[in-house]
Amino acid sequence: MAGLHVRSVLVTGANRGIGLGFVQHFLRMPNPPQWIFAGCRDPKGQRAQELQNLASKHPNIIIIPLEVSDPASIKAAAAKVGERLGGSGLNLLINNAGIAKPCSLDNETPENMIQVYTTNTVGPMLMGQAFLPLLKKAAQGSPGSGLSCSKAAIINMSSYAGSIEDMYVWEFGQVVSYRCSKAALNMLSKCQSLAYKEHGILCITFHPGWVQTDMGGGGGSYKPPLTVDDSVQGMLKVLSSISEKEAGAFLDWEGKVVPW
Ligand code: NDP
Repeated sequence: MAGLHVRSVLVTGANRGIGLGFVQHFLRMPNPPQWIFAGCRDPKGQRAQELQNLASKHPNIIIIPLEVSDPASIKAAAAKVGERLGGSGLNLLINNAGIAKPCSLDNETPENMIQVYTTNTVGPMLMGQAFLPLLKKAAQGSPGSGLSCSKAAIINMSSYAGSIEDMYVWEFGQVVSYRCSKAALNMLSKCQSLAYKEHGILCITFHPGWVQTDMGGGGGSYKPPLTVDDSVQGMLKVLSSISEKEAGAFLDWEGKVVPW
């Protein structure tokens, strides 16, 4: 990835799906990051086995216990990452962890709405706050005045399902709590991009495509069109090329602008 050189990256929800894909792709780069912090809410659990195996072979993967719906867990993770980084900052924060509750509008519940919002929207907001000092440090330590993902960036994993203008796959699933949480995440990303620009931090929100993961529905009767590899490769290519012009943008895995 010619245009993307990060010394450190943190991916939330890194034990499976798109998050694990990011970890694998960072490892395969010609110049892999010195630190790949892999956030995982249950590092000893069955679902973290593949990540554990990978970490046992690659000392630059550091598994960080991280439950993004728990503010104390986020604070503890920021402290651990800061300790590991010593004096240097964090270049890239990928807020990837997310949940969806398959529900029609008729069956939607307050519990779903709150749980999904807490994970998908409040989590990335708290992550941004907690990791801001480390991201600022990375930006200060990089030469040049422009914004880039190699310098310091927050990437929020949103979804086309959060677009209000273009109600993506409504017939496939209403998933109201999920759509609302991602629409709100898009607004959060815009706010972060404005507030953090002055600190040298680039913020964008991504639609990864419809991807073959547990959430994407790879195991169901309909196979999503994209593999994790294709999606992550596409997003890394986009990340390698964006600058201040794209700050606050809602882009898909190919770099196309998604309607709000
Ligand atoms: P998966 O369901 O395959 O993986 C979700 C990941 O998030 C898991 O690692 C899971 O950990 C983690 N996670 C969930 N809740 C929490 C939490 N509270 N704290 C910490 N980690 C948590 O999803 P995908 O890989 O498909 O999705 C990744 C992101 O991409 C999500 O934000 C999703 O909304 C978005 N997206 C995905 C699309 C797709 O087609 N797949 C389409 C559009 C957007 P655990 O194993 O412990 O559950």
